[in-house]
Amino acid sequence: MSGKNYQFKVVLLGEGCVGKTSLMLRYVQDKFNEEHLSTIQAAFLKKKIRIGSNSVELAIWDTAGQERYHALGPIYYRASNGAFLVYDITDIDSFERIKSWVKELKTSLGNNCILCIVGNKSDLEKNRNVPIKEAEEYAKSVGAKHYSTSAKLNHGVNELFLDISKRMAEKA
Ligand code: GDP
Ligand code: MG
Repeated sequence: MSGKNYQFKVVLLGEGCVGKTSLMLRYVQDKFNEEHLSTIQAAFLKKKIRIGSNSVELAIWDTAGQERYHALGPIYYRASNGAFLVYDITDIDSFERIKSWVKELKTSLGNNCILCIVGNKSDLEKNRNVPIKEAEEYAKSVGAKHYSTSAKLNHGVNELFLDISKRMAEKA
């Protein structure tokens, strides 16, 4: 029995400070830093996983902080198989912001890109400002799935990356 080898590009999108870099570093290196990590990263990090008999190589693209200047062009998400639209559950503006990313991705990539709406910082539940129901309904309305994560406590992070990998493999 021979498995398949998949290579997928996934991008992290969302407002500055929502935890995009933290999610990537938690997943790839199992590290967390209390500081804002904006510009120290390479364009992408790679991670290999197995799904059943298949192997999946993820190239996880993170921004270098350009999102703060609204200067993230289509070259960044070009040919992505999947995207994480990340917001901070304590920051309603960061949730509103992902809606324009979703529109942009759908316009540029059609339905070829698997969309994950990610409510990060779930450890700050007591300061939640984005109603979970609203976020889930929004995700559903655009054909995406909603996930809750805490990069800090390592909650839901592996599940998030595994799920998008499975969904991309099913589509490939
Ligand atoms: P980015 O600008 O979206 O890449 O955000 P960063 O990954 O640099 O994180 C911004 C800030 O949020 C940093 O101070 C992180 O320590 C913090 N942060 C990231 N993820 C979490 C989380 O799950 N919970 C909490 N409480 N803080 C987080
Ligand atoms: Mg960052």
